Amino acid sequence: MKKLDILTAPYVQEVMKTSANLYRLGWDERNGGNISYLLDEDWVTPFLDVAQVIREIPIKFDASKLAGRYFAVTGSGKYFKNIQDFPAENMGIIRISDSGNTVELLWGLENGALPTSELPSHFMSHIARLEVDPENRIIMHNHATHLLAMTFTHELNERAFTRTLWQMCTECLVVFPEGLSIIPWLIPGSNEIGEATASKMKETRLVVWPQHGIYGAGRDMDETFGLIETAEKAAQVYTYVQAQGGVRQTLEDENLQQLADAFGVTPHEGYLDI
Ligand SMILES: [Zn+2]
Repeated sequence: MKKLDILTAPYVQEVMKTSANLYRLGWDERNGGNISYLLDEDWVTPFLDVAQVIREIPIKFDASKLAGRYFAVTGSGKYFKNIQDFPAENMGIIRISDSGNTVELLWGLENGALPTSELPSHFMSHIARLEVDPENRIIMHNHATHLLAMTFTHELNERAFTRTLWQMCTECLVVFPEGLSIIPWLIPGSNEIGEATASKMKETRLVVWPQHGIYGAGRDMDETFGLIETAEKAAQVYTYVQAQGGVRQTLEDENLQQLADAFGVTPHEGYLDI
């Protein structure tokens, strides 16, 4: 049966449009940022012959828990600003080999391109999230500007950082009641940063990389983008509040608890003094 044009696949369109949007927001300068999107096989087969492996790419960590799974990924060293116009060169569709030590390229990443250099953080995070949420599909990394700036000026304590963001916009607590996690500064692209990120991903869908950026996870592109967008907006407000001379009044813990009750969410245990 004739295959449909992969560029019309909804998940390819979503990566193209989201990366353009992230670039427009200034969170993915140059080759900063990366996205991986877990796909079902039957999402792929109308578009691609999955027996047709274009190239095998070894990976330096064990992804066997994802063996046989399909992903749309952005390319290593590729610029987010170019993905929408030249998707086949800047992103790809891959499958994890049965052994878990190779990815099989099924489409894209033309001219010898490789999947994002942050593959360890992405795949380890997918493994961690799937253990706590079988519906998780997206891992997204970018350099959200105000969150990144806050890692220079705010105490790098998960409870304190989370509380500041919750206080800056009423909706934050509802969007990320579990709060966010913070790892130590580590070398990007390494297995070490992947392991650190993934261990936090079991607790929170947002993980801050100090002096670097943010990781977000979610069930679909809108949810994941919206999660990072909400935390980043709070960080932006915090920046303005500090520039305006600091906090004079804020959301009190009892307000935050009222919010949690009204929206049926459970704030991270111990983060509110109630
Ligand atoms: Zn980065």
